[in-house]
Amino acid sequence: MKRITVLSGKGGVGKSSIAASLAIALSKEHKIICADCDVDASNLALVVGLREKDFEQWKKISTNEKAILDEKKCRGCRKCVDVCHFNAISWNKEKKQPVFDRFSCEGCGVCQIVCPNKAIELKQVKNAKIGFGKTKYGFYVVSGQLEMGESGSGKVVAEVKKLAEEKSGKADLMIIDAAAGIGCPVIASVVGSDYVVGVTEPTPSGLSDLKRALQMVNHFGIPYGIVINKHDLNPKFTKEVEKFAEENGTEVLAKIPYNKGFADALVNLVPVIIYSPKTKKFFEDIASKIPKN
Ligand code: SF4
Ligand code: SF4
Repeated sequence: MKRITVLSGKGGVGKSSIAASLAIALSKEHKIICADCDVDASNLALVVGLREKDFEQWKKISTNEKAILDEKKCRGCRKCVDVCHFNAISWNKEKKQPVFDRFSCEGCGVCQIVCPNKAIELKQVKNAKIGFGKTKYGFYVVSGQLEMGESGSGKVVAEVKKLAEEKSGKADLMIIDAAAGIGCPVIASVVGSDYVVGVTEPTPSGLSDLKRALQMVNHFGIPYGIVINKHDLNPKFTKEVEKFAEENGTEVLAKIPYNKGFADALVNLVPVIIYSPKTKKFFEDIASKIPKN
């Protein structure tokens, strides 16, 4: 099975809408499965009309640990406070004991190592849920959602991809919708991909963030192409994006003009390729240019 990841350095450029419509275009000739790996703000399922209650299954998962204090064993040496790089430990002057902030704790375990009295334990926490559902377009979407205030999104992405593999059946293509940015969940989405579609808009911040994201893709040696969304809103800067693509030997897979249908499609939980049929040619074009072998 080939894996195609759709990413954007910057949020709000239409990444998930493009991923959903590309999935539908690709599903005409391939058996596909989608993995929504934007676990901090997952919405790919919604874009294809699949609401949370329509999912066949959700399960809570744990990919992270939190430090827990055993007050009886603590001797108040403060060693743990000094080593926490995440500022998750403050000091209670009255009790002369540390106080652990579970939302700041990243579960790195350093405090446990330095505690001379074995007063700190690391406990697994249910920090996310993952699930799957079948869309009316005939393919499954596997999705993950990080619980509020929880961390460990990169590992949650790995679990979403694992579940997508399990649910893939005879699928020959997996479409992965990555988070925006270049953080841990994006890296976890990109690892193991065969091709990356980088979505941008023609603005300085859009291009600058895309460049950073593609630098990371380059690090893994994965081929990629670029989609310029809303290209007609800033023709001058679209030329800048095209220049960047040319200088890097990268293909511009499509230039999509501004279309209010993108927003209306989202409101109506219908992929824009269906909601606004005049966009169909752009997604079919992208689908035809993505190498499948
Ligand atoms: S496990 Fe790491 S992040 Fe959490 S409190 Fe201990 S040192 Fe800080
Ligand atoms: S290192 Fe251990 S004993 Fe020292 S303050 Fe922290 S929890 Fe207490």
